[in-house]
Amino acid sequence: MEIVTRFAPSPTGYLHIGGIRTAIFSWAYAKKNKGKFILRIEDTDMERSTPEAVETIKAGMEWLKLDHDGDIIYQTHRIERYKELIKLLIKQGDAYYCYTSKKELDQLREIQLKEGKKPKYDGRWRPEKNKELPEAPNNIKPVIRFKTPKDGEIRWKDMVKGEIVVQNEELDDLIIARSDGTPTYNFCVVVDDWDMKVTHVIRGDDHLNNTPRQINLLKALNAPLPEYAHLSMILANDGQKLSKRYGAASVMKYRDDGYLPEAVINYLARLGWSHGDEEIFSADQLSEWFDFDHVTSSAAQFDQEKLDWINNHYIKNTATEKLADLIKPKLIDNQVKVIDGQVLNSAIKLYQDREKNMNTFSEDILFFFKQVQPSEELKNKYLDENSKSLVSICIDGLEQQTWTNENVNNFLKEFVKKQEIKFPEIAMPLRTIIAGTDNTPSIGSIIFVIGVKETKKRISSFLG
Ligand code: GLU
Repeated sequence: MEIVTRFAPSPTGYLHIGGIRTAIFSWAYAKKNKGKFILRIEDTDMERSTPEAVETIKAGMEWLKLDHDGDIIYQTHRIERYKELIKLLIKQGDAYYCYTSKKELDQLREIQLKEGKKPKYDGRWRPEKNKELPEAPNNIKPVIRFKTPKDGEIRWKDMVKGEIVVQNEELDDLIIARSDGTPTYNFCVVVDDWDMKVTHVIRGDDHLNNTPRQINLLKALNAPLPEYAHLSMILANDGQKLSKRYGAASVMKYRDDGYLPEAVINYLARLGWSHGDEEIFSADQLSEWFDFDHVTSSAAQFDQEKLDWINNHYIKNTATEKLADLIKPKLIDNQVKVIDGQVLNSAIKLYQDREKNMNTFSEDILFFFKQVQPSEELKNKYLDENSKSLVSICIDGLEQQTWTNENVNNFLKEFVKKQEIKFPEIAMPLRTIIAGTDNTPSIGSIIFVIGVKETKKRISSFLG
């Protein structure tokens, strides 16, 4: 049997990391089993669905290279199919028209709450043997309800949560079509999962309540039951719900905030799933290793520091050319007019081991392309008369060098010896002037990359 999984987001907001982690697990499970991974847009809620949200879903999936099989499926294109099956359920006696008005439902609810009961539709329009139904009012457009079995229970072995049992008597007669005839969420999901031969429904545990309802519908349709895996929530570091500012942002915000897609995949896959002690793995490894035995049933906690650590790992290990392509537009955004490719490559090589983020990375190497002014504090700290005169002697000497990285670095070492000073006494003033900061990798190598002409120009502007 071919394994088929799906990711079925509703395009009603941005695609946040909880959703994306569901997509990653579904994708990995299909890949692992050489199966199919379907992307289905659940856009039947016309009021809340937007084309922009559809675009962010597509962009997020593309950015993370979570490739789906076949075309994207849109539920709004399948309305006729849902209606056809609703008719079938009515014909079979498994669904019925309900004319209860909103006002009546509100009254019912009020009474039930007063009596300390759980609010529930009382089945007044539900056809039963020997029951006489009221006359259908012609001023009310009916909804269609599913005739949920009254007895028995629904039981399934969830791949994450384990054995789950729900008594049918706890379930309402679910509305499967609204009064305007449009099918509702639970019904569309069931029809789609069946038609698309989905074998494993992998989704957030906020859908746990829907599953027994969906199983009852599948049974009424005589459809096979899929396996279910309900993933736990992702919480913030402090155990609270993720907020927009903290972790729950759109997945594309992670790209805009300087994260590499490989890092996001790795980090999110590890959030709630493990493979021995492995912390770093590629999407390919994930799709080889992924299993549900190692998905935790408890909530996972979002950890920004770990995400940064993983991002640093991928920045360290990404090819210079690829990093250059990502950094160039950021430099242009920072008003850099000319980007010398060789300088960029050298700058990347000097910095990539220390960088946690592509945005701060491009800010840190900005000074290679345009002069960055140091703060007054740095100037006061490192540029006094004494250090300025050292810098002046230093640049005169540098100008005499045959320009290789080794020569520049050796010259600085010799300079320190000759002047009987410690290395930082020249390195810090040079950093302040050339880079606008006191925190850089080897200043000799930086001077080498920037070149003697530009180094001299910057020094002159400080020494006046
Ligand atoms: N459309 C639902 C959502 O975005 C998911 C449905 C499902 O996975 O069954 O929450």
